[in-house]
Amino acid sequence: MKHKPPKERKFGKGVVKCRRCGTTDGVIRKYKLYLCRRCINEVAPEMGFKVYE
Ligand SMILES: [Zn+2]
Repeated sequence: MKHKPPKERKFGKGVVKCRRCGTTDGVIRKYKLYLCRRCINEVAPEMGFKVYE
């Protein structure tokens, strides 16, 4: 059997950086935000939606 290459992790460390603070921790690409949870929670009210209900 051939060895399969590791799958890309969509929510792993170092995949995407937060545009706001630059962390790679808990960055969410949903909605094309590219923001970490912390920043999303700060920005969400301004954008008019709740991320975590
Ligand atoms: Zn952030």
